[in-house]
Amino acid sequence: MFSKILIANRGEIALRVLRACREMGIRTVAVHSTADADAMHVRLADEAVCIGPPAARESYLNVAAILSAATITGAEAIHPGYGFLSENADFAETVEAHGLAFIGPTAEHIRTMGDKITAKTTMEALGVPLVPGSDGELANIDEARDVAARVGYPVLIKAAAGGGGRGMKVAHSEDELAEAWSVARTEALAAFGNDAVYLEKYLDRPRHIELQILGDMYGNVVHFGERDCSLQRRHQKLLEEAGSPVLSAEERDAIGATATAALSKMGYRNAGTLEFLYQDGQFCFIEMNTRLQVEHPVTEMVSDVDLVREQIRIAAGEKLGYGQSDITFSGHAIECRINAEDPDTFIPCPGTVDVFHAPGGLGVRVDSALYSGYRVPPFYDSMIAKLIVHAPTRAAAIARMQRALDEIVVEGVKTVIPLHRRILADPEFQRGDYTIHWLENFTARNI
Ligand code: ADP
Repeated sequence: MFSKILIANRGEIALRVLRACREMGIRTVAVHSTADADAMHVRLADEAVCIGPPAARESYLNVAAILSAATITGAEAIHPGYGFLSENADFAETVEAHGLAFIGPTAEHIRTMGDKITAKTTMEALGVPLVPGSDGELANIDEARDVAARVGYPVLIKAAAGGGGRGMKVAHSEDELAEAWSVARTEALAAFGNDAVYLEKYLDRPRHIELQILGDMYGNVVHFGERDCSLQRRHQKLLEEAGSPVLSAEERDAIGATATAALSKMGYRNAGTLEFLYQDGQFCFIEMNTRLQVEHPVTEMVSDVDLVREQIRIAAGEKLGYGQSDITFSGHAIECRINAEDPDTFIPCPGTVDVFHAPGGLGVRVDSALYSGYRVPPFYDSMIAKLIVHAPTRAAAIARMQRALDEIVVEGVKTVIPLHRRILADPEFQRGDYTIHWLENFTARNI
């Protein structure tokens, strides 16, 4: 096992990794920008190294500075968290070239899944079902027209290098196709420097359901069930649950078996998430995330696993040591992302948190780097806390989340807490009756 790990991240996820290390008896090195000198992850780590000025490009994305910090402190492994360098194949490769362990998958797998077209063709060849659409990149608008006629309108033109919902355009009929085609390509080129696009049938009422996977270095792959992340705004998740209110145990087992067989054939190692759209009982793969996800705690609560500990054990060469039949699920978990944003306009609201009071009690977990007097810097993501609850049933979890949202106090900056209270009180949400379009309609109705 490693004796010292460098955590190449900030905020709640840096603390999350630090906590797992501490429980495993592993020393930690925090890295931070000058804007984060007073941050919680810096205070709690065994050692801390300043790696640059506030701009992420010059600090949390600064590979040379991070590797120097690892070298001077004698760290043996690097955990990238999520965001920043976590899905950068070159970074993973460079870390290993320096004789350090990268706590994540191989650079090759990160690269394969980073290109959505390659990801889809790889998964299809391994027997994973896809959204009907083009076989890879579209050569020209005529090909787009032919594929659209075959799969039926509406269709979605998507960027191969896409992320964060950019470079994605819907066409409801052939008349709209030419414009969707050129707008998606222009956006993709501007955002990613790559104008390759592909086409998918646009599903009108899907749920976003994703599967948590872990694999070791010896071909053992298991899944830890699903998360329903359908509550999104502009493709950004806001509230997640495990399990999904609509999935049966049989459906979970079936898609889990398909996914684990595929990743085992690939030789996939460490944590990963397969994202699907689910409609009319069908799963359609859309992309794979080759890292730990923001919403991983809901999976931890229902399956009683420490996913970060598992990631570290796997990277150190340990075997999983358990199989699929050892993994069981109990109760229901919900996570609310608390962003420092205006709850109606979603405009980020950095500033000083004068008062922070965390809720507690049975089945309540708060993953956050907040403290009273903390200044939310304007340079990074606006998520300042994750509030997670676990209870025997979904109804009990909703009641528990409502009471935790009543207890939490964040003063000094605007947050989305009032929006979460409204969502939790909504009868459709309470029935589990929602798709990926639900939240945008809900916020439009409630402004
Ligand atoms: P990105 O990487 O840009 O986030 P994804 O492919 O993961 O792109 O899609 C993001 C979101 O866009 C999905 O969670 C879903 O809400 C929506 N979406 C993607 N593909 C489709 C589709 N074929 N039909 C309907 N909605 C889709």
